[in-house]
Amino acid sequence: MNMRVIDLLNQARSRELGAISQYMIHYYELKDKDYGKLARKLRDIAIAEMKHAGELASRILFLNGEPLSRPAGEAVKGQEITDMLKTDIAIESDAIDLYNEAASLCAAEKDQASKDLFEDLIRDEEEHLDTFENVRNLIGTLGAAYLVSLTGK
Ligand code: FE
Ligand code: FE
Repeated sequence: MNMRVIDLLNQARSRELGAISQYMIHYYELKDKDYGKLARKLRDIAIAEMKHAGELASRILFLNGEPLSRPAGEAVKGQEITDMLKTDIAIESDAIDLYNEAASLCAAEKDQASKDLFEDLIRDEEEHLDTFENVRNLIGTLGAAYLVSLTGK
């Protein structure tokens, strides 16, 4: 049992659980404010993070470790849309940094499958980051006109 690798997988799992809780809060808040289209993006990304948390748990169990279920950080409530995006961009950027570091450490520990898992996660997180940055940039350049397009079901 490689505790270093299991610990990295659990740290990642904890971040995924934190991200799920944050994105679901944003989902409910946005839906409540009638920003249905943006809300849906948050829900879809939360579902992707649930898959990540599950894949990490499977890998931990395969390595005979114990998957922990403590979310990282404290989810923020009541943010304005631009602050929500700042929060979400930070979550994805931090995950990308951590997972890149983790992939290198897994390679050093000669655990290729865990390294591959982290690399798969990085590709997904880069897509999430891109989605959030695009929304932030479009709000920045188009303002109210773009915000209108995010309302409704
Ligand atoms: Fe993730
Ligand atoms: Fe993500």
